[in-house]
Amino acid sequence: MKRTSEQVSLTSASFEDLVREQLLRLGEDPEREGLERTPERVAKALKYLTRGYQEDPEKLLKGALFTVNYDEMVIIKDVEMFSLCEHHLLPFFGKVHVAYIPRGKVIGLSKIPRLIDAFSRRLQVQERLTTQIAECIQQAIEPEGVGVVIEARHLCMMMRGVEKQHSAAVTSSMLGSFRTEQETREEFLALIRAKNGNGF
Ligand SMILES: [Zn+2]
Repeated sequence: MKRTSEQVSLTSASFEDLVREQLLRLGEDPEREGLERTPERVAKALKYLTRGYQEDPEKLLKGALFTVNYDEMVIIKDVEMFSLCEHHLLPFFGKVHVAYIPRGKVIGLSKIPRLIDAFSRRLQVQERLTTQIAECIQQAIEPEGVGVVIEARHLCMMMRGVEKQHSAAVTSSMLGSFRTEQETREEFLALIRAKNGNGF
């Protein structure tokens, strides 16, 4: 593998070259034993952590819609979520809670965590992630309403020592009856809070 230098333009540099250059600029020695294979590992890890770009969330749901005669709230809570903040490329992670009231169609339960993955394994901000999940469900099954709540901790805040008190952020997106009917929204929030022992 070539060392990055002036005659290598950024576009022709491999991902590994760019990581090696970053290590140099951090004052490290990319040749030392522990760092020797780090550029390859970082390239591989980042590819994995952003694999959501390779997924089509709408297509994902399309194959898993079922017609039902059920009009009570469907709730999937405490789904683990790992993402990277687009401002610092540092992780934020936590729990996602999703609920909807069907209008003739439901989504296969196992598809909800996959949908969350498809959107979270990208460079994100928590607010957009929340909205994207809600809107995707809204479009796929046109339910009475959808609610999505995300509770997450941001390493960019925790590790940099800024606004530590805000390192756990809660965002929500309420559509349809979850937006217009307080009762529906409260039922959802009460169900989330019930035996919520995850430390948030
Ligand atoms: Zn950040």
